[in-house]
Amino acid sequence: MTTERTLSIIKPDAVSKNHIGDIIARFEKKGLKIVAAKMVQLKQKDAEGFYAVHKERPFYKDLVSFMISGPVLIMVLEGDDAINKNRDIMGATDPKKAAPGTIRADFAKTIDENCVHGSDGVETAKTEIAFFFKPEEITQRIR
Ligand code: GDP
Repeated sequence: MTTERTLSIIKPDAVSKNHIGDIIARFEKKGLKIVAAKMVQLKQKDAEGFYAVHKERPFYKDLVSFMISGPVLIMVLEGDDAINKNRDIMGATDPKKAAPGTIRADFAKTIDENCVHGSDGVETAKTEIAFFFKPEEITQRIR
């Protein structure tokens, strides 16, 4: 297995319901390590830029409004196969289709407020991490 890094965001719905700890516990239990983290209130231009790939989609405006509706916790997770592992822990985009025991099945109700974001590939992860973190803001977990 290759050690990878992936971007994780705990979205405003999960933050407002005080699920930060529950969600991080799931990552840590599966061996993912937090190597960078910050709690921020995204500005409209940040959310628009981050989700620019979806700008032609009908849900884009609502997605941006949701992502700036309250603070988010943005993290870099590191570990073996971190990108897929994180996606497995998150569950399907639509909570109604998410496997039992996943974050979205357990804590989210609708596709537009689905608790977490996770990078979906190696290149996306690199781009998304660089969008929010400078290289020097990412720590080395040597112990
Ligand atoms: P993800 O990688 O599982 O988060 O899914 P995508 O990258 O495809 O979509 C980004 C985010 O846009 C999702 O997490 C949802 O919050 C939202 N989204 C995606 N598809 C839909 C949709 O069909 N309707 C609505 N309302 N939101 C959607």
